[in-house]
Amino acid sequence: MKTLMLDPGHGGLNAYGYEDPGAVSGSRLEREDVMRLADLVAADAREQGLRIILTRTAGQKPATVPGVTARATMANSAGADLFVSLHRNAYGAASAQGVEVLVQTTPIAGEEMLAGLILARLEAVGISRNRGVKRCPPANNFAVLRLTKMPAVLVELGFITNAEDNRLYDLHLPAYARAIVEGCLAYLGLVRRPPATDADTADQLAALRTQLAAKDAQIALLEQQTRQAEAAVEQMRAKAREIYRLSGELIAP
Ligand SMILES: [Zn+2]
Repeated sequence: MKTLMLDPGHGGLNAYGYEDPGAVSGSRLEREDVMRLADLVAADAREQGLRIILTRTAGQKPATVPGVTARATMANSAGADLFVSLHRNAYGAASAQGVEVLVQTTPIAGEEMLAGLILARLEAVGISRNRGVKRCPPANNFAVLRLTKMPAVLVELGFITNAEDNRLYDLHLPAYARAIVEGCLAYLGLVRRPPATDADTADQLAALRTQLAAKDAQIALLEQQTRQAEAAVEQMRAKAREIYRLSGELIAP
């Protein structure tokens, strides 16, 4: 089973002790956008037979969220096969838009291929602009990409500062999640499993009904045992009352 380390960006404590929101645009926070995406990617990837580890989860206390170096260490110690970091871009000019996938300054074998596979599938879903696969500039070689030992990419899924990108993000979120999973599957040489058929579902239902019937029988047996025990207790109480009555008669003057 292949392991995908999924990294919803930001969400930990920043240098000032505040929860790092990532990029902010009005009430919209990058850390929340990417967590919504990560949950969908995780669910789909698990359905496709991948093992998923998340660097942070929704509702996790910021103080317990690992920093970027620790996120890379997590992936290395878990022996992850792939590392995908999820982010949203931001720029001062609201007109900047599009999707890009970053790899480290000097990519290891397969990294640019993984990035390209994911980007192509995102583009097929519908994005405002394909900004390409990019290598981090040496001065800004992200730790999660640089320190991870497996192929690692960072997806900047549109600009949070661009209205069209946000509209597409909300519209296509589940499809974007599937596209990211498909890129990973393609990289691993796996194909998307066909969705469960009606026949599969009927089999599963029949199995569940059998399990349910067995549980019902167990419950019925327990109820019967309970009633027997209650009857035994009642008999003992009656005996005790009889003994008290008799002893009362004996002691009575
Ligand atoms: Zn970010």
